[in-house]
Amino acid sequence: MSNPVSPSPTTPLPEAATVERWREDFPILHRRVYGRPLIYLDNAATTQKPRQVIEALTEFYENRNANVHRGAHALSTEATDCFETARVTVARWIHAASEKEVLWTRGTTEAINLVAQAWGNAFVKEGDLLVATQMEHHANLVPWQMLARRSGAELALVPVRDDGTLDRERYRQLLERRPRLVALAHVSNTLGTINPVAELIAEAKAVGATVLIDGAQAVGHFPVDVQALGCDFYAFSGHKMLGPTGIGVLWGRQEVLEAMPPWQGGGEMIAWVDEHGFAPNELPYKFEAGTPPIAEAIALGAAIDYLRQFDRAQLAAWETHLYRRLRDGLAAIDGLRLLADLPPEGKAPIASFHVAGTHPADLGTLLDTQGIAVRVGHHCTMPLIARYGLPGTVRASIAFYNNASDIDQTLSALSRALERLG
Ligand code: PLP
Repeated sequence: MSNPVSPSPTTPLPEAATVERWREDFPILHRRVYGRPLIYLDNAATTQKPRQVIEALTEFYENRNANVHRGAHALSTEATDCFETARVTVARWIHAASEKEVLWTRGTTEAINLVAQAWGNAFVKEGDLLVATQMEHHANLVPWQMLARRSGAELALVPVRDDGTLDRERYRQLLERRPRLVALAHVSNTLGTINPVAELIAEAKAVGATVLIDGAQAVGHFPVDVQALGCDFYAFSGHKMLGPTGIGVLWGRQEVLEAMPPWQGGGEMIAWVDEHGFAPNELPYKFEAGTPPIAEAIALGAAIDYLRQFDRAQLAAWETHLYRRLRDGLAAIDGLRLLADLPPEGKAPIASFHVAGTHPADLGTLLDTQGIAVRVGHHCTMPLIARYGLPGTVRASIAFYNNASDIDQTLSALSRALERLG
């Protein structure tokens, strides 16, 4: 499946001056590292933040700071309004049926752990089958390993093929065993593969499985419509889509969330408490014990408002253009193996590679001395890296605020690093 906002051949690329204007919004892109201009290609780990998001954080603390849903005073009312408006912004952004389906979490990791514990403890029994894939981030793997261990369920992984796509035949065989749960990444953080999730979800729903999609690497690159996808849960992190750290979202289908017991206990998640027990609050508060990350939620709303001003097909076209430029340059390097070398318009702009005879950590260090930020290692996908028989990879991940010079300078720096190591 291609990127849902795959640039058609007619999608015009932005002018270089337009990209430079976008870059003006990101103050950090003007800093220097070891005396050189920063080249930031670690966007899959976390994206940089536009001024509009940074200002939303300071605006809250300078003018509105108060706890939400509690105080009978002006500040608290304003804070609550802004916080709940951000929830509505998220609900519209992902096409949720209602903002009640949008739960704030600390990020994707916490969102998936919430499901593994609250839903998993209630509905997964000994002998049940859970299905994930070999390309999952540890955040979408370890919580299911833990659930399997404590419930006596079995966890089976769909293998990844050499080309970085899922083995659909094996997936179908596992579905024949009618799993309780299917959990899979929308986009692989290590490979950049965009999984055909709409089809995979339809197949899983046809056998009655509950389906969770890890959207951490998807939401920053293309629009997501949770109702059209047809899954039960969709998890993502704000910091990978221009928002702050410490805030993420678990979207859950309302009837699935209603059927789940609450997760953590504390303030906010109760309707009432007496000395003997409690009644849970209504959605979404039932799953939001304690003081939430208020400023961060509001700033995530600001990140969405910021992204909304763009033609997302044009952003995707630009990212694909840069990825193709990087891929062409990498292809010319002797001994370099690019994982998931799929057609650029069908994958996210993530290049994971290994150069024979080198260690990724050495390459990462040499690039860093040139002011170039990439990530090296297993990228929290150890089973996937083991499947390719590698010690790790160098991962360069692109965002729309990268420019052509970032790619060209990275390729030159890589050649110089390889000469030094050679
Ligand atoms: N899932 C994927 C595919 C990711 O790329 C990441 C982060 O890299 C996560 C989950 C975990 O996200 P977070 O650390 O924000 O909870």
